[in-house]
Amino acid sequence: MKTQHLIGGKWVGGERTLEVVDPATDEHVADVADAGEGEVRAAVDAAAGALEGWRGATAAERGRAIRRLYDLMVRDRERLAALMTREQGKPIGEARGEIDYAASFLEWASEEARRIEGEILPAGKGKRIFVLRQGVGVCAAITPWNFPSAMITRKLGPALAAGCTMVVKPAELTPLSALAIGELCQEAEIPAGVVNIVSTSTAQGFSDVVFGDPRVRKVSFTGSTEVGRKLIGMSAGNIVRLSLELGGQAPFLVFEDADLDAAVRGAVTGKFRNSGQSCISPNRFYVQRSVRERFVEGVAEELGRLRVGRGDGEDVQIGPLINDAAVEKVMGHIEDARERGARVVVGGALEKVEGCKDRFVQATLIDGLEGAMRISCEETFGPVIAVGSFSDEAEAIELANGTPYGLASYFYTRDAGRAVRVSEALEFGIVGVNDPVPSTAQAPFGGVKHSGIGREGGRYVMDEYLEVKYVSLGV
Ligand code: ADP
Repeated sequence: MKTQHLIGGKWVGGERTLEVVDPATDEHVADVADAGEGEVRAAVDAAAGALEGWRGATAAERGRAIRRLYDLMVRDRERLAALMTREQGKPIGEARGEIDYAASFLEWASEEARRIEGEILPAGKGKRIFVLRQGVGVCAAITPWNFPSAMITRKLGPALAAGCTMVVKPAELTPLSALAIGELCQEAEIPAGVVNIVSTSTAQGFSDVVFGDPRVRKVSFTGSTEVGRKLIGMSAGNIVRLSLELGGQAPFLVFEDADLDAAVRGAVTGKFRNSGQSCISPNRFYVQRSVRERFVEGVAEELGRLRVGRGDGEDVQIGPLINDAAVEKVMGHIEDARERGARVVVGGALEKVEGCKDRFVQATLIDGLEGAMRISCEETFGPVIAVGSFSDEAEAIELANGTPYGLASYFYTRDAGRAVRVSEALEFGIVGVNDPVPSTAQAPFGGVKHSGIGREGGRYVMDEYLEVKYVSLGV
């Protein structure tokens, strides 16, 4: 297990360390080097030093290197998944799924590397315009703890394909998965300095260095809207390009013409992934009045089948939340809904798990969601389905769009016309129609409004790491 920084192809430590603990038990997992501004600066130096060589490699060479990294992640799937469960807590089956998902971004990027093409435009008499697409240069990635591998590869793969070099700052709660990727980058013979990884407990210090250094041309961030806003402010000095994947407040609509069984299964699948700790997790369930009771009964029945426990148990669906603050927030949302008149149909309490901390929130179903409740306005980030209702399509759309966030949205219908109308009316970057798990490597993942700027995935993400330049040539 790597615990030091990866800077310029070397593993380096420092005086300070930060402790990684198992969120289920608070057991010590590792002490990881904790970067100060000096180490971050050294990482930027290394990325800047490696830029010329990496951008000068052929597209095929870069693609093959990314492909090797993909192959190694697939080879080490089990080890990487176990490490992730250890530091993040998610059920091992989901951790394996995340490694597959993380690797899929690398596979896609390895193929995309050779499709970075330009254009020649006619430009009037005696001139031609050549449009070039060139890597932006040194990039930084700041990633969250809820998907400790996939949020890195989704940025790293395309950046490398575009000929960029990168400094990655993983979340301080889950640095080990990131460092494991760094180790595989070395084994994949990605040249020293192309990928640098520094962990730190002082995230602001990291930002101060990367936004203050004119060589860093791009920062890609996944995390909260609050921090995203700060980064937008910090990017002003050096006019740094940003990609921001921020918070969500996803609606989940069920129309009376839906396949209700599918909607019930979809609600449970979508909501309980990572114990609800996902920015695309449906947070507000609105069901058409005529089918609401049946939906609530159906979900209640399904919840009885979910097992709560430590992530390393094979048959567990709901693991611990990441820390006490997360538990407090989720329990606060449940309490607030109860106080404002909602009915807790299933769960609503902490589950005692032998030898573990009080971080396991039961799969919870709340009926009677209203607009003033915290669940209606804030991201819950926990295993709670809260159901409200609507009478017609117009009201459903109004409720769904009644949020400053605009990442994912979901709805269930069997009416083809409605599927198109509602998809077009929803002010979200992602719409899952009869599909609770819309994320995949080839799709342009991203949000509108307070959920962010930019898209990650498929060919779309390449634009985030490429500058367009044109050359006007007199002939
Ligand atoms: P979450 O609520 O998911 O923890 P955060 O936005 O707080 O989301 O964290 C996401 C990532 O942003 C983490 O890697 C965290 O260390 C980092 N982060 C937090 N504050 C800052 C900051 N001021 N500058 C740069 N990164 C930050």
